[in-house]
Amino acid sequence: MQDENTNFNLLYKIMYELTVVFETSKTPNELLLGLKQVFKRFFEVSDIEIFSVDDSLISLKNFVKPWEVLPVNEKTNALTSVFHEFKNNNISYLEKDSNLYFPLYAQGKITGVVKISGNIQLKNILDFLPLLIRQISLAVVHLRYFETVTNSAKFYETIRNIAKITETQYDLSYILPIMGEIIDGFIKEHLIYVFIKSANRNEYKLIWPAKCSIINIKEYLSKIKNSNYLVFDEGKTCIFPLITKGKISGAVVAYNTLDSLNENEIKYMQQLTLQASITVDKAKEYMKTLENATLDALTGLNNRHMFYQRLNESISNAKRQKTNLCCIMTDIDFFKSVNDTYGHAAGDLTLKTVAKTIKKELREYDIASRYGGEEFAILLPNTSLDEAKLVAKRLRKQVEKKKINVEELNIEGVKEISVTISVGVSLYNSSTMKDASELYKTADKALYIAKESGRNKVIVYEN
Ligand code: GH3
Ligand code: MG
Ligand code: MG
Repeated sequence: MQDENTNFNLLYKIMYELTVVFETSKTPNELLLGLKQVFKRFFEVSDIEIFSVDDSLISLKNFVKPWEVLPVNEKTNALTSVFHEFKNNNISYLEKDSNLYFPLYAQGKITGVVKISGNIQLKNILDFLPLLIRQISLAVVHLRYFETVTNSAKFYETIRNIAKITETQYDLSYILPIMGEIIDGFIKEHLIYVFIKSANRNEYKLIWPAKCSIINIKEYLSKIKNSNYLVFDEGKTCIFPLITKGKISGAVVAYNTLDSLNENEIKYMQQLTLQASITVDKAKEYMKTLENATLDALTGLNNRHMFYQRLNESISNAKRQKTNLCCIMTDIDFFKSVNDTYGHAAGDLTLKTVAKTIKKELREYDIASRYGGEEFAILLPNTSLDEAKLVAKRLRKQVEKKKINVEELNIEGVKEISVTISVGVSLYNSSTMKDASELYKTADKALYIAKESGRNKVIVYEN
């Protein structure tokens, strides 16, 4: 009676602690660490390893590192033979080379092996074994299920993010790297490369990232014939063609030095590349319509095309009315690191906010344009150089002060960010400036000096 009570108390304690581990583990690694702690405390074992069969139900994989192929050696052979013994003989545990093995179950089938090693108090464990096996098996199955669900949710979010790029961006040289990053973030175990194909030759150019370490990549890419994906290096390199308007326009390549892509990953990659193709198609359409557009889609300021038009008009007016005309060129400082640190969505929001801040500081008839990525050009009609310098100083100060609220982007630990701008100012001089472009080129020279001499500064171009 006494013994039964002690046993029951012990069982209660073990089960309670295991339940806590099961409830709080979100990854295989967390589950294993939790199990180790409980088993160490109650049974003084030194290590636990879990192996479960892969999707093809043939080979065993380390539950914590399923992407690794188990090496062929004595240990692995022992493991495989134990697994088969469990499958064939319906036994509940095996003791071998001072290790204790027991099977994992999923839906009544044996789907893996748990290996316990160390100075095992066999009697203690065996009393509880039937219950422990079922509990651990359940936890493993649940975690698998949880991972599948989380992965699907991540997959749909990834698809949505790729689709969303064209809401504000359309420049291919800008969106293709972002797509590469997004896909890379999803397919974590593989390196992702994005290539585009030149319009008339069968040549592919790497767009993202900066370097590709696949030795025969040129040869592989030249094998693309249609939309079907291609597999090389025993499945370690997979090529997914990008198809726009029914033509091959590039490729997304997944590469892993250790392992081949599994069936699921291939399915995901096919869908992601398809979405990427649609996004590229849409961007190309946008480009066409935007050739006729006047405003920049992201900031709502004049686009570059419009800037040139307004520059010519403003110079004609200044000449005719004999009034002053100034130009301010600004460029956000270290903007690349905003993208790199907080992501492109934060970069976009920064561009919008800076554009708004600039617009707010200007008079109604001043003309603000987005000249390029993070560069803005401002024309100030009827303005002396001193006045323009004051405006420039105000712009610099207001941008520096502005807190950009990024709460909606859910960046861990970051609610707001701020940036600075460098500014160059110049005055139109009809006798020295023969070409309209000289006005903004001189402002750009001053901007360059502002950058070189430390950034977050205003520099005036002196004739
Ligand atoms: P510097 O102080 O010398 O100007 O450094 P920088 O990092 O600002 O300059 P750089 O020219 O190296 O980087 C500009 C970055 O702006 C690179 C590019 O990816 C990014 N960019 C350009 N257009 C956009 C856009 O529309 N959205 C976002 N998020 N980033 C953009
Ligand atoms: Mg720049
Ligand atoms: Mg910059």
